[in-house]
Amino acid sequence: MIVNTAIVVGGGIAGCSTAHALAHRGIKVTLLERNTAIASEASGNPQAMLYPRLSGDDTASQFALMSYLYSLNFLKTLNLSPADFNVCGMLQLGFNPRELARIQKVAAFFESEAFVKYVTAEQASVLAGIELMHDAIYFPNAAWVNPQPLCQRLIDHENISVKTSISINKLLKNNDLFEVYSNDKLIEKADIIIIANANEAKNMGLSLPLKTQAVRGQVSIVNASAMSTPLKLIVCSDGYLSPASHAQHCLGATFSTDAMDLSIDELDHQANLVRLKSYSMGLYENLKDNICDGRVSLRCSTSDYFPLVGELLEGSALISRPPRPNATATSLPWIKGLYINVAHGSRGFTSAPLCAALLASFICHDNLPMSDELAGLLNPNRFLLRKLGLKRLARMLATSSTTNINKPISS
Ligand SMILES: Cc1cc2nc3c(=O)[nH]c(=O)nc-3n(C[C@H](O)[C@H](O)[C@H](O)COP(=O)(O)OP(=O)(O)OC[C@H]3O[C@@H](n4cnc5c(N)ncnc54)[C@H](O)[C@@H]3O)c2cc1C
Repeated sequence: MIVNTAIVVGGGIAGCSTAHALAHRGIKVTLLERNTAIASEASGNPQAMLYPRLSGDDTASQFALMSYLYSLNFLKTLNLSPADFNVCGMLQLGFNPRELARIQKVAAFFESEAFVKYVTAEQASVLAGIELMHDAIYFPNAAWVNPQPLCQRLIDHENISVKTSISINKLLKNNDLFEVYSNDKLIEKADIIIIANANEAKNMGLSLPLKTQAVRGQVSIVNASAMSTPLKLIVCSDGYLSPASHAQHCLGATFSTDAMDLSIDELDHQANLVRLKSYSMGLYENLKDNICDGRVSLRCSTSDYFPLVGELLEGSALISRPPRPNATATSLPWIKGLYINVAHGSRGFTSAPLCAALLASFICHDNLPMSDELAGLLNPNRFLLRKLGLKRLARMLATSSTTNINKPISS
């Protein structure tokens, strides 16, 4: 099938990078966003950190590292202003015995690589420009980016038209074209649709095999002080402190799967300060009365921490007519042309650009930007297949990405 037109639902980093990747390949894209501006929800913090969390050579680390290197290189091509994209570096601190063991393992595993280096507390303090109490691993090319200008740059393309203040509540496939509806009114038609609206993907009026979880998070905005202004890079424990931008730091972030209230919570500010205290008592004392604002939004996560990226199966058809364990991938009830790019958890600015490139490669039948095995781990249908007891099928799909679905699934 030749794809000429696409609709992307959702204008966060996942939607904007998917629109960009498709437009770059000559596809006319309409991006639909329910807010008045793009990057208004999870993708709307003042600073987003770009970094990988590694543990060794497991598939999660491979995906994290590949995403990080891809995202950094990609962002460098976008000519963002230095005020909006700063390759400042990051220290991940060994602030407790478990984290110390992890960073030592990572440093040993990637000993010969330039992208990460083990540093002592003294060396870390010199690199940071402030005193730190723990050894760390140093990522010299880690960066922070201002999400709004980044997302705007991604959609500034002659093949992309953006419509804001449109909340999509229904998707339909009518003959070969997809239709999207807002308040049950037809808004747009296209050859394919990419769902990139995070936690709302489940509410599109279709039976989709999605299993995602909303995770509330709050960042604290902290006025820089004479002591904190010299901070040159991002410091990361189980949270992060960014170097000041416009004389303010981002101190983050909390995690909650209970409360989904989007108002700022004073207790969350205190929780962010406690994270700071765990690695710099001096900075904690100095900044604890400097919190001037905060921002709350919802991450969208999966239980295995991999995003959901690829073409979708029809959930109800799968449940009512479960495939035999030895079924072929082609015999499954695919909704041809319906794709998804969601569930980027805590690191969407690292993972979404690579996932967008992966989706565009599926759609345009290009070479994939990652191995079939990694691409398969992102398969958005994996949870329902496993729930139906089709673990073998889910595992086989994990090693035969949707570009290969015409191949029989062998045992
Ligand atoms: C406190 C906090 C701190 C974080 N810090 C970092 C960080 O430092 N680095 C990092 O990489 N990540 C960070 N993250 C995670 C990151 O923000 C997310 O992974 C990322 O923003 C997800 O992007 P997204 O496009 O999938 O979702 P979103 O940004 O939420 O975008 C989804 C969009 O879809 C729109 N939408 C929803 N429903 C509809 C509909 N029906 N019709 C039309 N539009 C719709 C929404 O309005 C929204 O704009 C943080 C998250 C939180 C909460």
